[in-house]
Amino acid sequence: MTDLQDLYQELILDHGRRPRNFGALAGSSRTSEGYNPLCGDKVKVYVQMEDDVVKDISFQGAGCAISTASASIMTETLKGKTRTEAEQLFERFHDLVTGKKAPDDAPELGKLAVFSGVSEFPIRVKCATLSWHTLRAAMDGKDEIISTE
Ligand code: ZN
Repeated sequence: MTDLQDLYQELILDHGRRPRNFGALAGSSRTSEGYNPLCGDKVKVYVQMEDDVVKDISFQGAGCAISTASASIMTETLKGKTRTEAEQLFERFHDLVTGKKAPDDAPELGKLAVFSGVSEFPIRVKCATLSWHTLRAAMDGKDEIISTE
């Protein structure tokens, strides 16, 4: 493994063990739940929008290190972003984990680039994108449970 891969691995393990913005968000205006039956990952995303801006965001759930770390880094990244920016980041992130884009092609992803290795494990793509699909449903005001299947 290269040093960069070691660093990525370290960040994923760290966020998987000590997720940031974990817990219910008092005063959240929107929530949604997501489920990835392939792996058993469950996530609930809380988001508080102010006009078109993500004012605060948190999540709860239980899942593998990839899904937990992805939700954790997503919440860190999206605070203060507009809804349009969030949608664009999701698209870039999706391209990254499905191998359509290299991390160097999308510097705006920042820490999210640590998930580039997921593209070598297609079954893990759903773990990495579950929280993003769930966030999108929350922003759309959908209250059904989102499944990756
Ligand atoms: Zn998983």
